[in-house]
Amino acid sequence: MNNDSIFRPALERALSHSLAHLDNLAHNPVAATASLQTLRERLAKPLNEQSLPAEQIVDELVADTAGGILGSAGGRFFGWVIGGSLPAALAADWLTSAWDQNAASYSCGPAEAVIEEVCGAWLKDLLGLPRYASFALTSGCQMAHVTALAAARHALLARRGWQVERDGLFGAPKLRILSSDQFHGSITRATRLLGLGTAAVIGLPANQAGQLDTATLERALLENPDTLTIVLLQAGDLNIGAYDCFADLIPLAHRYEAWVHVDGAFGLWANASAQHRHRLAGVEQADSWTTDGHKWLNVPYDSGFAFVANAQAHRSAMSYEASYITHNDDVREQKDWNPDWSRRGRGVATYAALRQLGREGVAALIDRCCDAAHRIASGIGALPGAELVWAPTINQGLVRFLDPRPGATEHDHDARTDAVTAAVLASGEALFSNTTWRGKRCMRISVCNWQTGARDIARAVAAVEQILRSQNG
Ligand SMILES: *Cc1c(COP(=O)(O)O)cnc(C)c1O
Repeated sequence: MNNDSIFRPALERALSHSLAHLDNLAHNPVAATASLQTLRERLAKPLNEQSLPAEQIVDELVADTAGGILGSAGGRFFGWVIGGSLPAALAADWLTSAWDQNAASYSCGPAEAVIEEVCGAWLKDLLGLPRYASFALTSGCQMAHVTALAAARHALLARRGWQVERDGLFGAPKLRILSSDQFHGSITRATRLLGLGTAAVIGLPANQAGQLDTATLERALLENPDTLTIVLLQAGDLNIGAYDCFADLIPLAHRYEAWVHVDGAFGLWANASAQHRHRLAGVEQADSWTTDGHKWLNVPYDSGFAFVANAQAHRSAMSYEASYITHNDDVREQKDWNPDWSRRGRGVATYAALRQLGREGVAALIDRCCDAAHRIASGIGALPGAELVWAPTINQGLVRFLDPRPGATEHDHDARTDAVTAAVLASGEALFSNTTWRGKRCMRISVCNWQTGARDIARAVAAVEQILRSQNG
């Protein structure tokens, strides 16, 4: 090894700062402690005229961002749906930056292309998806939706003789998306980017379990049976982790010649667990699926996956080359499957994460997080002044806090719930985000981190207990 490496000072500083961050996650507050103003004052330096030593920049970055980095890499972060990073995935992510390959094509990064090929095969196997499905490694589930829905748009319009890639959408037949009303906001944004428009998405009322009923979907399909239709199904909605009933809904949608797309941003991972995969029975019959690596797989950010059963539709929607040009099918050309051109070799971290965990490790991670979510939700729900609104069936649960004053209204309970959530955040002991679910404010519990353990669970419940006690006293 070259001790005079020009990279060594900066990289060694980065390593030691990273370890200081990661190894202190259990002791440091999980929420931000620096104000917006402080962060701006520290970071908005005048742009220097002369160059600076690399190691100085690294040191100052760490000093200037202090208090502005959430503890989302650690085990006490339960906000939104956010995972941490497995050691192998993080290290692989560093290597990816060191290698700095352009993962657009095989010729720009041969090993990267092969790694993505392997990731695609492993992921389909683990997630129970058809072996013949095509795939793309995207920046996240948002762009995975764009990729998969572009394939759907291609296939549906082609049936009416419309070549959308060439002719665009002006004058094209109408296309609608039927879903339960619990769909994620990234779907409507995908429809904006794809020129389908947000009005194309029709949110049908979900049932008490948060699922789309067969009768509800059939009624909607019958309303305009000739309209080209995508049926969007949910594999784990973000509030309660609800799964639509794939075994009933997919064959129904197919009888009406709809394309079925599954949003499984985190919930598709339950198919890797023997304990939880019954919720996904029949999901493999869909036409496209999307999920994330950067949530439940605990890969650093910039990791989403799209899978499409009709590989030709996928390629036609994304390929740079026109479909009449022959491809070199011996190698994977990522830009034929992805919405981006030049990009990071984002498969490397996923490859490393899957190898670190192995099949059993992925299943254990899913089971552990679900169990932790259940224990946190029931622990908090049992506290005086708290109410368990949704006991997690997977890793998402909801609790609510009641205003103890006589005659308190729903509005008072909402305010109390927000206040307790804010107090937990301020305590630095745990971090939860809040949501409005069926008209009520709730504190949402999401467990996605590979590190969350018994001590984190106990601390989170104790933090809420202490806040409730002090607010009642
Ligand atoms: C997070 C999430 C998305 C969006 O995924 P990104 O990785 O943030 O782009 C889509 N759907 C669901 C259900 C999600 O939880």
